[in-house]
Amino acid sequence: LELSLDDLAAAGVRLYKVGLSFPIEQTRMIDFARDLAQILVIEEKAPIVEGQLRDLFYNGPHGVRPIITGKRDALGAEQISSIGELRPSRLIETVANWLAQHSPALDRRHNVVDFTQPQLLSNAADAVKRIPYFCSGCPHNTSTRVPQGSRAQPGIGCHFMASWMDRATSGQIQMGGEGVDWAGHGPFSRTPHLFQNLGDGTYYHSGYLAIRQSVAAQSNITYKILFNEAVAMTGGQPVDGTLPVDAMARQVEAEGVKALAIVSDNIAQYDAIRNRFPAYTTFHDRDKLDQVQRMLRDVPGVTVLIYQQACAAVKRRRRKKGEMADPAKRLFINQTVCEGCGDCGVQSNCLSIMPVETEFGRKRAINQSSCNKDYTCAKGFCPSFVVVNGGTLRKRAGVLRDAGSDALAARIDQLPPPAAHAWSGPYDLLVTGVGGTGIITVGALLAVAAHLEHKFSSVLDFMGFAQKGGAVLSFVRFAEQREHLNQVRIDTQQADAFLACDLVVGASNDALQTVRHGRTRILANIHETPIPESLRNPDADLHVEALLEKMRHAAGAEWVETFDAQELAEQFLGDTIVSNILAMGYAWQRGLIPLGLRAMIRAIELNEVAVDMNKMAFNLGRLAAADPQALNALRGAAAPAGRAGTTVDELIAHREAHLHAYQDAAYARRYRALVDRLRGAEQALSGAQDKLPLTEKVAFNFAKLMAYKDEY
Ligand code: SF4
Ligand code: SF4
Repeated sequence: LELSLDDLAAAGVRLYKVGLSFPIEQTRMIDFARDLAQILVIEEKAPIVEGQLRDLFYNGPHGVRPIITGKRDALGAEQISSIGELRPSRLIETVANWLAQHSPALDRRHNVVDFTQPQLLSNAADAVKRIPYFCSGCPHNTSTRVPQGSRAQPGIGCHFMASWMDRATSGQIQMGGEGVDWAGHGPFSRTPHLFQNLGDGTYYHSGYLAIRQSVAAQSNITYKILFNEAVAMTGGQPVDGTLPVDAMARQVEAEGVKALAIVSDNIAQYDAIRNRFPAYTTFHDRDKLDQVQRMLRDVPGVTVLIYQQACAAVKRRRRKKGEMADPAKRLFINQTVCEGCGDCGVQSNCLSIMPVETEFGRKRAINQSSCNKDYTCAKGFCPSFVVVNGGTLRKRAGVLRDAGSDALAARIDQLPPPAAHAWSGPYDLLVTGVGGTGIITVGALLAVAAHLEHKFSSVLDFMGFAQKGGAVLSFVRFAEQREHLNQVRIDTQQADAFLACDLVVGASNDALQTVRHGRTRILANIHETPIPESLRNPDADLHVEALLEKMRHAAGAEWVETFDAQELAEQFLGDTIVSNILAMGYAWQRGLIPLGLRAMIRAIELNEVAVDMNKMAFNLGRLAAADPQALNALRGAAAPAGRAGTTVDELIAHREAHLHAYQDAAYARRYRALVDRLRGAEQALSGAQDKLPLTEKVAFNFAKLMAYKDEY
């Protein structure tokens, strides 16, 4: 509001910051309130302090009796919310009105608009969300499926994410209470039976009591104990205690469950120890999960299915450390054969199945660096899969990988530094992106760099289930003086700069509400990182233009700049893992980061992780921002050969040649004849010679149809 404490004092307004909210310290409070006509109490949640002040001043012997307002004003109207966090933007209007009422000299209501919720654009990209998802090869991808006609309840753990995946899974209950709510509402439901998911860690410390309760209540329920040997949600810690599958089986038998099935991706491991299990235990490969569940749901009473398969993230770590054999088998998708139907994604529910846009339309590829070799993607009837046994991944070449940092350094040395920043108040930088890609590292590096320059900073990370590919927002605030960092959140419309490392998260309302039109500079990475929706919907569209439109609407078109960090990282360094550091370099060169170069580089060095690679990525980002021509000179690569051009004629000629190679000249002529006929008709109707949208579509799709893989 641009009011100093002196301005307030001159108008008779005093501030009192309560240290202990209950019980309040009365003597000082009475002194503070002496001669005051009114006290406005600002506190989050319930009116704890406000109520005590009323008790203190109502008919008190000290003769001090100001009006107490807070949650309600002096006339009883609602004033300050009891719900959620009371950040400045939620209070500013109330406080400005209250001050203006008391003294015209304190009327700053014209400043309020800078903190109110901006009008954000609603468009075709509203439904595009970056929701967290199971890791590639995660056992929950398979284990949380339920047979048709059944429904399941989630528990606490990674498997809770099944609630967001069209898996007839919903509900919420505390750890250890899994399924006990069904004991209450099951008898009043038309649903005869329920599946209840329960993690092995939860089972050990409290979940077994929930099973006991369900047995006591004679519920019709099947507990699916998801035995993955880790507390996966919080980073793969080992579960408390050691209860192997056979001990768990004997325990649930003792609790009185009616039927027990063990399902695993390696069921043969139990062959030699079946005598350790209760006699009624049945054993099944995970391929039979659906039949097993159908069998269990028909058994009256409480039944248990223990689904054993190690957590994919834990497996990955163990393989890296050499504690677990890394299977020699890798799957690839032959894109010439792939039709882009998306069934591999449906079969596996695996995020390593990535859509790739090719000359012949959208196909699929396996992201080999995130693939955890679970092989469920090949369970359909698709002939596109190629199995490679015994091979290892070749290090991808990058233009700079071989040339080393010298080639880059020579050009970097000539770059002009960004304009010097002149700021003393807080400088707010929002960094957003996809969980697990280093957004939090960017925030941490910036904080270290600020510290090296004796500046103050705060970093507030919003992560949620972010390590599972969800949205991450990192609020980074810098200031010359500590007291300027009076809150860690970047408030409504207060961002000075915004580095959007992912378009979907960047265009979310949470991110854009920090943007002020005509003030916030946005640097947006336009690389299309697929969203989980692409697993369910093979034609899912990221709506890139609509996402960018949201940003431009919020900040102003000239305040938004775009680039493709992954493309640069892949092409020059052969690895996209450094793309967010590259983005940081780009942002620094553009002047979005108010810190010196030495501090930035030193922060990367102090991080002690892939220092050379990260420094190269940072410098590459700088070069891309400052001197695209020098970047092109470094690139020096020709455009990929063998592609169709951009005109209809070029497209038709390309597909004709393709069909000739696919079968023979007669087959290609058949294609040409139909397309030419259609083209003539469209030209006659539209009068246009080359803008022929129908011909273009048919030229594309008829060739696709004719070159359909014939393995079926
Ligand atoms: S299942 Fe469909 S999308 Fe996946 S590889 Fe096969 S053809 Fe391609
Ligand atoms: S093998 Fe297939 S299902 Fe398994 S992790 Fe790799 S891509 Fe995903």
